[in-house]
Amino acid sequence: MTIENLKPIFNLPADHKGPIVIAGPCSAESEEQTLDTARQLAEAGITIFRAGIWKPRTKPGGFEGRGKEALAWLRKVKEATGMQVATEIANRRHLEEALGAGIDAVWIGARTSANPFAVQEIADTLALLPEEKKESITVLVKNPVNPDLELWVGAIERIYGSGVSRIGAIHRGFSTYGKHIYRNQPRWAIPIELNRRIPELPIIFDPSHVGGSRALVATLAQQALDMNFEGLIIESHCNPDKALSDAAQQVTPGELSCIVRALESRNSAATAESLDDLRYKIDRLDDELLELLSKRMEVSREIGLFKRRHNLPVVQTQRYKALMEKRVADGERLDMSADFVRAILAAIHEESVRQQVELK
Ligand code: PEP
Ligand code: MN
Repeated sequence: MTIENLKPIFNLPADHKGPIVIAGPCSAESEEQTLDTARQLAEAGITIFRAGIWKPRTKPGGFEGRGKEALAWLRKVKEATGMQVATEIANRRHLEEALGAGIDAVWIGARTSANPFAVQEIADTLALLPEEKKESITVLVKNPVNPDLELWVGAIERIYGSGVSRIGAIHRGFSTYGKHIYRNQPRWAIPIELNRRIPELPIIFDPSHVGGSRALVATLAQQALDMNFEGLIIESHCNPDKALSDAAQQVTPGELSCIVRALESRNSAATAESLDDLRYKIDRLDDELLELLSKRMEVSREIGLFKRRHNLPVVQTQRYKALMEKRVADGERLDMSADFVRAILAAIHEESVRQQVELK
């Protein structure tokens, strides 16, 4: 499906500079907390407010959001501050209630975008809206929890198929098993491939859910801007330590303001020239990498012939393990992560095996 003729996801003030910034608490917990946070964010120059109302929790018993009553608080935020307001929806009823309350933008959460039935139900509901609503509503699609680009693209295509045209994606990282620095792994190659596949689609980055810790928000946000993401969605709470959901990753509106002011935009003309030089260097290094790999495959095929002549198996697990361990340690000394070195070596090994198995 070709996705084209998209409209801007948000109408920004004429004097707006820099990336789109959506900010607000993980959850709207009370009228006071919602309005207090919103007022402080508006003072800091934020024009798009987020707050979750229906919260999908991993385990039962967690805070599941205030539901419909909190929609009235978002309406008050709009009236009091003039900000546009956004919330998460997961089904037809959420969408209808949000639209009824005058919500400007909705996002489909990571657990919902992993479920084509749920996304299709939302798309079918959007398709029935009157034309003016279809034109005004913004729908942002978070990546599914699992690193599956096709599922993400599929969810975006379902929403596009409904006839709405203010569509964007949110990159919030991917779940993995075990403890890591990041709560959700950024796997940058996936949103970059999404951008290659659908260049018109704006992608917003969510450093709060990727990092899972307020200490990581600023660095991650800058990295995303360096990679040309269109904007950021950042969780901010008037009293983060007391937040009922995602306390560790929320920042105060004051901190948010500092983070946003410190962000550097990387697209000024002055930097373009040196960037071209650096890209030239990278391209040449990639040429060399490919040549080296092809030489390595040649040797690998010779080994394959030797193994065949001497009736040896193609894969010798002991050697593979020893080689991997040594290279991972070497890689770390050269400032590359163990995961990266492992992935590269596994891919090279897989191709070597394929070439040896297919030897004529
Ligand atoms: C959220 O934005 O608060 C949220 C629940 O996000 P995600 O769907 O990315 O987990
Ligand atoms: Mn959250």
